[in-house]
Parts: sequence; C-alpha cells; structure tokens
Amino acid sequence: MTVIQKLKTSASPLISVEFFPPKSESAQNSFNKGAVELIGLRPDFVSVTCGAGGSAAGPTLEVSKQLSGLGYETVMPHCTCVGMSCDELAFSVDALVRQGFQNIMALRGDPPRGEKLFKPAVGGFRYAAELVAFLRERHPQLCIGVAGYPEKHPESCSRSDDIQNLKTKVESGADFITTQLFLHNHVYFEFVEECRAAGITVPIVPGLLPIISLEQINRMRTFCEFHVPAVLLRNLEAAKNDPIKMERIGLYWAIEQISELVEGGAPGIHLYLLNRAKTAFYPELFACLSRVRGN
Ligand SMILES: Cc1cc2nc3c(=O)[nH]c(=O)nc-3n(C[C@H](O)[C@H](O)[C@H](O)COP(=O)(O)OP(=O)(O)OC[C@H]3O[C@@H](n4cnc5c(N)ncnc54)[C@H](O)[C@@H]3O)c2cc1C
Repeated sequence: MTVIQKLKTSASPLISVEFFPPKSESAQNSFNKGAVELIGLRPDFVSVTCGAGGSAAGPTLEVSKQLSGLGYETVMPHCTCVGMSCDELAFSVDALVRQGFQNIMALRGDPPRGEKLFKPAVGGFRYAAELVAFLRERHPQLCIGVAGYPEKHPESCSRSDDIQNLKTKVESGADFITTQLFLHNHVYFEFVEECRAAGITVPIVPGLLPIISLEQINRMRTFCEFHVPAVLLRNLEAAKNDPIKMERIGLYWAIEQISELVEGGAPGIHLYLLNRAKTAFYPELFACLSRVRGN
C-alpha cells in the first residue's frame, strides 16, 4: 500500500520515521543496529533523506533497499534536485521505481554546505514543484510527498507566498505534505487552517523532533528555522549539565506535542529520530505512540 492509501484508509493516525544515510563506518554500525531495533516500533512507513547538505543520491537508494530487506513494508526514498539535470533525475527515479519503491518525497533540496543560494543544475529544476510535475508525468502511479513549512521556508518573503508555492506543488501532483519540525503546536494548527483556506486539501503530516539537547537545537537551527518555546529553553538551560535530564525534558515535550496533535486531528506523526532508535523506546514515548495507534 502507498503512503497516501494508508493515510486515507487507516483508522488511526500513521506513525512514520525518517532515516538518513550514515556517513561513516561507526555511524553505519549504529545505523544497522537502530534500523533493526526500530522494526519493533512497527512504523507505517519510513523515509530516507537524500544528500541533505548537497551530497550524492546513491546512498538513499542503498539505505532504502537495506530497510526494505529488513522488513519495513513501506519505504519512501527522498529525491532532491541538487546537482541533478533532468536526465540524471530520470535515471535515478527510474532506478527507484524499478526496485519497487512506490512512494517518493520530492524536494528541491538545500544548497551544498557552505553555499547560501540554491543554484539549479544545468538542465535541472529550480523548484520542487517542477520535480513533482516531472515525476507525476513519468510515473503516474507514484505516491508523492512534499515538504511544508509551518514557520515558513527561510527563503520565502511571507507565509502566504510560501503557502501559494506549496499549493503549486500539490497542484503539480503531490499526494500529501510532511512538515518541517516545529515545537509550538499552534503553528501547525494555524498552518493547516491557512493551507485549507488556500484550497490545499491533501493530508498534512506534522514532523516532530524529540529534542535531546540544547546543542541539538543550535545545530538544527543551521538547517531550518523554528521557534523554541521560552519555557522549554529555560528548562533545557537549567539542565544543561545533566544530559539525561535534558533528554527527558525534550522527550516529555514531544509526548505532549504528539498527544495534542493527534487530539487536534493530525493524520499522522512523522518522527525525525536522526537515526537514534533509542529515543523511540523510552517507555513513555513508546506508550504514547502505541496509544496513537490505538493499541
Ligand atoms: C519533510 C522534509 C524532508 C526533507 N528532506 C530533505 C532531504 O532529504 N534532503 C535535503 O537536501 N533536504 C531535505 N529537506 C529540506 C529541503 O530540501 C529544504 O528546506 C529546501 O530548502 C527546500 O526544499 P523544498 O522541496 O521545500 O523546495 P521548494 O518547494 O521548491 O521551495 C523552496 C523555496 O522556493 C520558494 N518557491 C517555490 N516555488 C516558487 C516559485 N514558483 N517562485 C518563487 N519562489 C518559489 C518556496 O516558497 C521556498 O521558499 C526536507 C525538508 C522537509 C520539511
């Protein structure tokens, strides 16, 4: 079943997890272990990022195949326009489809590390909407996800411009939206309301990062923009010499976010676990995710 079929037919919100291809041998070893452990969470789907930071797309295919081989039923590779001409994208996407992947998260991608502006490759795409239209035409059966930004994409002048651009992605053929992380639930609920008012009707799955440290917040803020609630920041700062306490503070924040999002009608919860399987198995979070599923 594709992600959109699951979103349309599931009696309870979906649980999904994002992986990224490991970049070193030791990271590969802990990835292998974590990937096996996370099967125990029974995610409805998992996704695999593509060259975040502007590296190659090949590892995404390898990791996606690895996860499928481990028994994850629905694996959604990400595909970005970074450094890829239209012909190269066709080659790469055809390979994914040939391997049996029926779901793709279509993104423009971030500029390579150290560069501020996105430059399309020669013969490549400037915006994700162009990639979506290309994928929809080339492989009409694909389920296509796209990114949404409750706190607006950093390059956008305004949230309404950003939502209009998101609408173009959906009209180009996207089936659902996964959001960038946020730590204030009201930004998600307001975003959904504004998307609906703009005529975007597809499911909007909130993306959540269980925070583990102040340092992690600072690192994530170099990739994406999000507000950190003052109370969360205060509590993390007060615990900054106690990593275990900081992790628990972040975890409880995530649990509260998840409960409220599900109560407010979110169609799923997409977890940015950053390959850290351990986070999902904290008994309180695991229990919360089980409740979301209704078991
Ligand atoms: C769920 C999720 C998964 C992600 N996975 C990855 C990944 O695997 N690899 C990776 O490198 N990055 C990933 N990212 C980050 C993403 O690539 C960056 O945020 C990137 O800067 C924008 O990608 P996009 O697909 O949203 O681009 P777009 O939708 O093309 O938007 C980029 C910017 O251009 C603007 N825009 C769009 N169309 C137009 C137009 N016609 N005219 C003017 N402006 C326009 C938008 O408002 C926005 O400001 C992910 C983000 C999310 C939320």
